[in-house]
Amino acid sequence: PCTDYDMAYFKAYSHIGVHEEMLKDHVRTNTYRNAIMHHKDLISGKVVLDVGCGTGVLSIFCAFAGATRVYAVDASDIALQAMEIVRENELSDKVIVLHGRIEDVEIEEKVDVIISEWMGYMLLYESMLGSVIFARDKWLKPGGLILPSHASLYLAPITNSHRYQDSIYFWRDVYGIKMSCMMPLAKQCTFMEPSVETISGENVLTWPTVAQVDCYTIQAPDLETITAAYKFTSMLQAPLHGFAFWFDVEFNGPVRQKFKKQASQPLDVNMQNSNPSNKKKKADVSIVLSTAPEDAPTHWQQTLLYLFEPIELKKNQIMEGSVTISQSQQHARFLNICLKYFTGDQWYVKESVMR
Ligand code: SAH
Repeated sequence: PCTDYDMAYFKAYSHIGVHEEMLKDHVRTNTYRNAIMHHKDLISGKVVLDVGCGTGVLSIFCAFAGATRVYAVDASDIALQAMEIVRENELSDKVIVLHGRIEDVEIEEKVDVIISEWMGYMLLYESMLGSVIFARDKWLKPGGLILPSHASLYLAPITNSHRYQDSIYFWRDVYGIKMSCMMPLAKQCTFMEPSVETISGENVLTWPTVAQVDCYTIQAPDLETITAAYKFTSMLQAPLHGFAFWFDVEFNGPVRQKFKKQASQPLDVNMQNSNPSNKKKKADVSIVLSTAPEDAPTHWQQTLLYLFEPIELKKNQIMEGSVTISQSQQHARFLNICLKYFTGDQWYVKESVMR
């Protein structure tokens, strides 16, 4: 059923600003175009479904790649604009825009390819992946192609003195007036919830932990709660200010089931420590859209969870704990994040909501 929250969500996507921001994100849009052209052989002469087409940009790239027919579906009123854009490009015979939810629309045939740009902040915010899973199970032919095919969510401890200075220590001296009493409120207001901002590779204290999603096999219940244990060894002596999330997605073909289910792991969402060597290998073999701090910035930036009090870390100090990300019961598009960490003498728990 379409809830009030869904209505508000789709209304937000009827504004031009969000689409302009996505289209002007060249890293995002060019990587999608490259991936579509890379898989030209699997798209040419085939039927494509674009889940959440927005302006229709990805559908039109698929038409350029030789798709026979593209079903471009969007529940937002932006679909009305997509129809005009398709007409302006004289592609009305190939690109069929359907204004409705993917869960509700009827398509004449099964499709060979599903394309979608479903990723939210820290990958899972907005939870649109569920709609892609729905479309896959209902409309994709066996052996069909899904772009992107794999996603990875990363978590790493970070240091960011500049941010702490700017938002917290600022209150120590304001025009010569002592306002340190404001610091607890500043911490509450600034660091209570996750914040979307850009950091650089230099802020990151060690190699991240990663949770991987295989879009060919993941099931909706797998997304309800993701828990991952982690163990970090700080590569430098620095104050730990918090943790950063970012993600990447890969565009692999249907045969390459990279993250195979393992007998011991019931979910396709499984955590492991990433290291520089396997990252290199990954970049060599497939097209990757990365939102990592060391890569070119995107509109997703990174998602930061700051601690109320920094923790002084020594070089090689081990930090361990877990993170649980779950869909809010009240509002499926919100995420509850529960971060637990142990620094050698004390356990901490930080709970927050991404809304
Ligand atoms: N593909 C476009 C837009 C991506 S934004 C581009 O790459 O620029 C995601 C779009 O998906 C939004 O326009 C939103 O309205 C749409 N969307 C999200 N969930 C949907 C659903 N369940 N059914 C139909 N459209 C959906």
